[in-house]
Amino acid sequence: MGSEGEMNGTSSTTSKIHIFFFPFMTPGHMIPMIDMAKLFAMRGVKSTLLATPHDEPLFFRSIDRTQKLGFDIGVVTMKLPLQEVGLPEYCQNLHLVTSPDMRRKYLMAVRMLDKQFEKLVEEHHPNCVISDMFLPWTTDIAPKYGIPRLIFHGTSHFSMGATECVRLYKPHADVSSDSECFLIPNFPGEIAMTRAQLPDFVREETEFTKFYIEVKESELRSYGVVVNSFYELEPAYADHYGDVLGRRSWRVGPVSLCNKEIEDKLERGNRATINGKDCLTWLDSKETDSVVYICFGSMTKFNASQLHEIALGLEASGQPFVWVVKKDEAVEEGKEDWLPQGYEDRMQGKGLIIRGWAPQVLILDHRAVGGFVTHCGWNSTLEGISAGVPMVTWPVAAEQFYNEKFITEVLRIGAPVGVKQWMRQVGDSVKSEQVEKAVRKVMVGEEAEEMRAQARELSKMAKKAVEEGGSSHSDLMALLEELKSPKVAGH
Ligand code: UDP
Repeated sequence: MGSEGEMNGTSSTTSKIHIFFFPFMTPGHMIPMIDMAKLFAMRGVKSTLLATPHDEPLFFRSIDRTQKLGFDIGVVTMKLPLQEVGLPEYCQNLHLVTSPDMRRKYLMAVRMLDKQFEKLVEEHHPNCVISDMFLPWTTDIAPKYGIPRLIFHGTSHFSMGATECVRLYKPHADVSSDSECFLIPNFPGEIAMTRAQLPDFVREETEFTKFYIEVKESELRSYGVVVNSFYELEPAYADHYGDVLGRRSWRVGPVSLCNKEIEDKLERGNRATINGKDCLTWLDSKETDSVVYICFGSMTKFNASQLHEIALGLEASGQPFVWVVKKDEAVEEGKEDWLPQGYEDRMQGKGLIIRGWAPQVLILDHRAVGGFVTHCGWNSTLEGISAGVPMVTWPVAAEQFYNEKFITEVLRIGAPVGVKQWMRQVGDSVKSEQVEKAVRKVMVGEEAEEMRAQARELSKMAKKAVEEGGSSHSDLMALLEELKSPKVAGH
């Protein structure tokens, strides 16, 4: 990765740049931002991550190794004013917030970080702020100090463009039912969607709609967009984003590829609830491309009956599997009645259930893993692409239905499980037969082989993109060069 000069931070082009990386407080937003800060540090930037004292020891452990290698990366903390908005102390991260009212209060508390943020900018004098889309107010603070704010959406050009075209042209207003298809207007590729697949705050006006408009407006006033993607993955959509929607963007991903060693992959995100060595030993005992990995990201919370259907579907598929069930799903209640009778005995040696947090990238990168059942969060999607595995798509919320279209229709490396309805966290219900059918489709047979071959090609392209001379590497270096220019200050 890069020349010696860049690696040691002595490159003449990058040595003086100091960047603030300010993620939103949820695992799916923090993890790629931490990876990005590491990546930039490896290119000679001084990277400073902004975090709350709650998240710092947990999620930011992964920067220790980067620091030990001599790169300039650190964390500064800000305290979320939870009491002031009437939230209990434990609500430190969005994934710990459980109701719409709590979510509203949480966003208020985050908004109130502005003074602390401003003080940190004043003290540290960064050259630039890369902040999450959900922190629109950072766009107004950065110029006060003569520095640009770049926005990070944490998703692809495809879904950013689709979201924007739906927002601008409202095609969902012209259909007569939630299940009637419409094409996304002025968007490449004839992408058909239904109203049921759109987020609730797009379908109707909610508290979040206003905030979402604020986010969009802040994007237009920002210096540009940093994207966790690579050009060759979505050239038509990257071009559309720049040429048609008029946004400046730099693609620097897949950022997860900066985690090369086993330790990096183990330390990423939450603390894994399985011993890394045990996990690898289990996978080592399996044939190449035989194991299906099932994980629904950090936010989804399926109920007991849905978990039960997944268990039956996996068993019926006949494939070995690693299945991640979060502690705050049915397991937390300590009941485990979501598991069919005698299930774990029957699945001994065949199915591994991880209760809690899995070292996802470590697992996906193992040669034994040949398929991925995913909720289509963008990080998981890109990690699946980087690992070269075909996917069963099971979108739940956020922009995941767009990502499903991208995986199955644009890239052609996945099969939909068949969900029809956007439903925050809980998801639309899926029967065991659907799980079994979709898993078989990506794991065995001619079609599976075709998808796997295509996924492998994309994986090679992803790795090339982040190497020196690759498109993402070049974009990153071009961005750093531009940030050094005196013209950038006070754009
Ligand atoms: N992740 C993980 N282990 C888990 C669950 C999630 O490492 O058990 C990571 C995953 O690799 C990804 C992130 O958490 O980087 C989840 O982001 P994504 O965009 O896929 O989904 P979200 O959690 O935002 O819905």
